[in-house]
Amino acid sequence: MIMTPRSRITRFERSGNAMWLRVDHDGRRFIGDSLHNLVESHESEQLWKPLPPVQPTKIICIGLNYRRHAEEMKKPLPSAPLIFMKPTSAIIGDGEAIQLPASSQDVHYEGELAVVMGARATAVTAAEAMQYVLGYTLMNDVTARDIQRAQARYTHAKGFDTFAPVGPAIVTGLDPRALMIRTHVNGELRQESSCDDMIFTVAECISFISGIMTLMPGDIISTGTPAGVGPLHAGDVVTVSMDEIGALSNPVVRSSVR
Ligand code: MG
Repeated sequence: MIMTPRSRITRFERSGNAMWLRVDHDGRRFIGDSLHNLVESHESEQLWKPLPPVQPTKIICIGLNYRRHAEEMKKPLPSAPLIFMKPTSAIIGDGEAIQLPASSQDVHYEGELAVVMGARATAVTAAEAMQYVLGYTLMNDVTARDIQRAQARYTHAKGFDTFAPVGPAIVTGLDPRALMIRTHVNGELRQESSCDDMIFTVAECISFISGIMTLMPGDIISTGTPAGVGPLHAGDVVTVSMDEIGALSNPVVRSSVR
């Protein structure tokens, strides 16, 4: 794997415009309206409104990709990655509220490591897959578990608005096998796992998915959740975190529209 020095990529609203900010390992800062059009800057983002650090054409999720989570769901280990998609309309950023729909009585958090693609990938091998990765962020694959259990398909249970918190940043140059992911609810630890417990590696997932559909720059692959999933209630705050990426924290409220 090619290990590049770490950079941290975030997105903000500045005077009504969405701006990208990349801070390199040496502290140099680059700002622009596109990731491909950044110029060095000494501006501070402190007064800007944070936005989700992604604008994917699609979000592909892996189901049952941690051994201990497959056990807790009482499902056999899959022989190939089990994939589904979430709509991009479900994306919210760090600090925005997850809205519980009235049609579910059992909405769960699923803290996940998310891969952000850096280049267009069609039918790539696992050996070359990591060259197509921009970096990593965190996603909460929020799921209406009662609806998921009642249906064979996942789109309804996982597609509600606000059910894809993503952020707080994309970090480049990480080795996904060496990461620890944690989920806290109201400060209490609920999920804690090494990403090394994944059944299919990031490279294998990229190779598998790109054999089905072309992955575009900015597309997200959410790599599955470890053991310890559980319910969210109005008034909770759920935080997915990783030392290298930071914390993705979202309050939970009842939806006022559905
Ligand atoms: Mg999941």
